[in-house]
Amino acid sequence: MRWSQILGFSKECSHDKVPLDAEYYYCPDCGELIENQWYLVRCASCGLKEIATVKNGEVVPLDNFCHNCGGREYTVERLEKIDCININYAVLLKAIVKNEAEEYSQSWVDAIQTSGYIPKLLQ
Ligand SMILES: [Zn+2]
Ligand SMILES: [Zn+2]
Repeated sequence: MRWSQILGFSKECSHDKVPLDAEYYYCPDCGELIENQWYLVRCASCGLKEIATVKNGEVVPLDNFCHNCGGREYTVERLEKIDCININYAVLLKAIVKNEAEEYSQSWVDAIQTSGYIPKLLQ
């Protein structure tokens, strides 16, 4: 724990406690709103699903070529929802949702101001 703080890794939260089946979830470790984004990689030639992985923040196929046709081109598609078939191929990106988090904090401020204002009116 201490070493990771010294090396500056503590800022890089991996959002491990965000459940995989939630679409949006506030990470209990860093407090960011996390969106679970599932991506599927297909061969561009034959359309076969390939096992996806993440390299340098980019969704790429695990293997460099298609096992069906040998093609090296691929397409990445975003999945709306993960299911038990695609979970074997798809890769999960835990993306921080910045804009929505700001909107939520804005409405919290409004709520606090409103609740503080009403008692004055009633007095
Ligand atoms: Zn986190
Ligand atoms: Zn192929």
